Amino acid sequence: MNITVFGTGYVGLVQGTILAEVGHQVICVDVDAEKVEKLAQGVIPIYEPGLEALVNENIQAGRLSFTTDAIAGVAHGDVQFIAVGTPPDEDGSADLKYVLKVAETIAEHMQAHRIVVDKSTVPVGTADKVRAKMAEVLSSRSKDSLTFDVVSNPEFLKEGSAVADCQKPDRIIIGTDNAHSVEVMRELYAPFSRQHEKIIVMDVRSAELTKYAANCMLATKISFMNEIANLSERLGADIEAVRQGIGSDPRIGYHFIYPGVGYGGSCFPKDVQALVRAADAIGFDAKVLKAVEARNYLQKTTLFEKISQHFNGELAGKTLALWGLSFKPNTDDMREAPSRVLMEALWNAGAKVQAFDPEAMEETQRLYGNRNDLTLCGTKEAALKGADALVIVTEWQSFRAPDFALLHQQLRQPVIFDGRNMFEPVRLAQKGFVYYSVGRQAVG
Ligand code: NAD
Repeated sequence: MNITVFGTGYVGLVQGTILAEVGHQVICVDVDAEKVEKLAQGVIPIYEPGLEALVNENIQAGRLSFTTDAIAGVAHGDVQFIAVGTPPDEDGSADLKYVLKVAETIAEHMQAHRIVVDKSTVPVGTADKVRAKMAEVLSSRSKDSLTFDVVSNPEFLKEGSAVADCQKPDRIIIGTDNAHSVEVMRELYAPFSRQHEKIIVMDVRSAELTKYAANCMLATKISFMNEIANLSERLGADIEAVRQGIGSDPRIGYHFIYPGVGYGGSCFPKDVQALVRAADAIGFDAKVLKAVEARNYLQKTTLFEKISQHFNGELAGKTLALWGLSFKPNTDDMREAPSRVLMEALWNAGAKVQAFDPEAMEETQRLYGNRNDLTLCGTKEAALKGADALVIVTEWQSFRAPDFALLHQQLRQPVIFDGRNMFEPVRLAQKGFVYYSVGRQAVG
């Protein structure tokens, strides 16, 4: 099948590559010429395990190509994916300007029937807007006779395991009431729905809401656990015992109930906010979602509060070693990362940061490279040298079993603030550390 994908970010690039891998002919279009040039040479601008090899294989096999030429893109694909960003606008609503721009481009250049598939996360009612925009452009071209359908097909991949998620999706949501589009989408995704039926067909509005509902549910689990962790700390309980205790109930389960320093990334914060704004816009007060957002905002400040309290509010001149900058492990993405809230609070208080992350150093350099109160270190060990304490913000695997003797030696004081409960408090106390974690009593 001939497929065109607009947008080569985490979603468009990975989905386009995976579709090429199973044999479809895929052209990816992006407006960012520099990115397209790199991709055409097989250079991947993001870190995503397994992606680089797959992109290169499929370029070489002649199934995958990259271009800025939208006209060629529109001519190529019977199916046209929209996978561009939908960032929050000033009031937190999803900004649809990139999505509608692609719709306009497709309508400007199409010469035959096209199925336009919305993969970006968009508010309920967006398919109607895409349809209206395309009809308007076709009419201005006096091409009202050209037909098209708009399908909602939200993406559920997770950054850090995007390739595997697209290869083995939990479900594939197809939102349309057009029987021909359903047939085409079933054929397109058939290679991914072999083991058992993964395709769920529904109306377009339900498909659009399914994506927000999924992300908001996950964000709710995190904020709920963080709330209980705060209570746990204050009530003298241990959140890790509580987590195991409740996770054993199959109605609750162990997934996604880890306490931490708040959710970040390009999806949860913006999607919770966008659904709250969409509810406000129709006069509905989304109380649960507002509480989820409020807890998350506060949670991102908890590490700083612990650090500040430990040093009696005297942070000026102190140096903190910081492990983990990306918003979660296995990605270089720092959008809405808790590390940023922490570093900015530390800098405001006059402290310095020596930071290390296995993948996000380049991104940190791009964001904060001009600051003289930030030192980017080549290894996690180098970040420790002469620091007053260690702060762990992201739970990378490579942080799980550090050389504690070296930590003792390199840190000015043996103090660890752990935002991800990486270690056993009793063991850390035995090793002579003062150890703060989340939802548990400080030790040492
Ligand atoms: P991104 O910001 O990484 O990439 C978007 C790309 O679209 C950029 O390369 C940009 O240059 C390109 N673009 C903008 N306008 C264009 C145009 N007119 N024509 C062609 N290309 C254009 O975004 P992303 O993280 O891939 O997210 C895309 C959408 O998918 C968003 O709605 C997001 O909410 C959703 N989503 C993201 C994830 C994730 O984990 N990142 C997961 C599921 C869904």
